[in-house]
Amino acid sequence: MKPETYIDLESRYGAYNYKPLDVVLQRGEGIWVWDVDGKRYMDCLSSYSAVNQGHCHPRILQALIDQARKLTLTSRAFRNDQLGPFYEELCRLTNSHKVLPMNSGAEAVETVIKAVRKWGYKVKGVPDDQAEVIVCDGNFHGRTITIVGFSTDPQTREGFGPFTPGFKVIPYGDARALEEAVNPNTVAFLAEPIQGEAGVIIPPAGYLKEVREICSHHGVALVLDEIQTGLGRTGRMLAEEHEGIEADVTLIGKALSGGFYPVSAVLSNTEILGVIQPGEHGSTFGGNPLACAVARAALMVLVEEGMIDNAETMGGYFLEGLKRIQSSLIREVRGKGLLIGVELLPEAGGARRFCEQLKEKGLLCKETHENTLRFAPPLPIGKEDIDWALERIEAVFAGT
Ligand SMILES: *Cc1c(COP(=O)(O)O)cnc(C)c1O
Repeated sequence: MKPETYIDLESRYGAYNYKPLDVVLQRGEGIWVWDVDGKRYMDCLSSYSAVNQGHCHPRILQALIDQARKLTLTSRAFRNDQLGPFYEELCRLTNSHKVLPMNSGAEAVETVIKAVRKWGYKVKGVPDDQAEVIVCDGNFHGRTITIVGFSTDPQTREGFGPFTPGFKVIPYGDARALEEAVNPNTVAFLAEPIQGEAGVIIPPAGYLKEVREICSHHGVALVLDEIQTGLGRTGRMLAEEHEGIEADVTLIGKALSGGFYPVSAVLSNTEILGVIQPGEHGSTFGGNPLACAVARAALMVLVEEGMIDNAETMGGYFLEGLKRIQSSLIREVRGKGLLIGVELLPEAGGARRFCEQLKEKGLLCKETHENTLRFAPPLPIGKEDIDWALERIEAVFAGT
């Protein structure tokens, strides 16, 4: 079938909840994907950082096939032989004490909101139904009703109310605003170490350290949503490591399966996840043996194949190359590891048209909000690949 036919089918029968670039992909390998006409593209989005390990990584694929032949789903009514080892490996690699496995990122966020509220009532002594969670302006934590209710993006929330109460929004990157917003009923501060969907917004150096101190001082749980920044993307296993801090709860998802399967997890110290008792939370697919086997392989590949260090060095190289591009349309180039944003000036007429032009040249990326191009290729990218990408990006900004 022709690309147009696939696109027609999608628009005829599918809900219009995405506005994708018109490229119909069929195959992927490493940092490359191919469309139905056989044209090759470099993937500089990595499915919003869910394929950090590269497309169809052979070792993860093998783990998926092997486990799919043996056992896929037991539900948590019974135990399975993948869950314990997955917990142990994940805790060791992320320096955590307890894990609660879920599927999508949004489910991990919902889970932590339940956990910190309960912790607030049982441990901190907050009066019933008074728990407050502080979140940040520009946040992105997923698409469920509770989560969109505390979003500050009109597109995300308008028309979907009424919303869950108990959330307070403060400016991002401003530790003093957190200090002022905390009250005796505050149970948690939920934030992204770098705001991905908001346009790769990097808070001032020292922010997370200050936030850590404020939370500890007031007995507030620090919850970092590392669903996008975690698992090597910024050149560390977790982005919190850049400031040498430890959150009380960390959320991961996306690349936890290397893009094969939805797997997410809430990682925490013993006290917070310890408040959840049997019967109080769960998921039919959460912690299933197939998910665990895939996630174990995805984690092993990240570490054993040196992808995290590569993200740091190649990210630095990519960032420098982008900063060298001379264009009156670029406001700022910023990034950490391989999570890079190029923010355009309003007169550039939006980032979308640059994405369209890059697609024509064989490079796939996506605008985040109006004016920012995000470059987040799979972590095993090499220097020559980045040179190849820079050549195309430069050409697009030069208008050639
Ligand atoms: C993608 C993302 C989520 C939501 O994950 P889903 O799997 O799409 O539900 C939550 N938080 C952050 C920071 C994300 O980037």
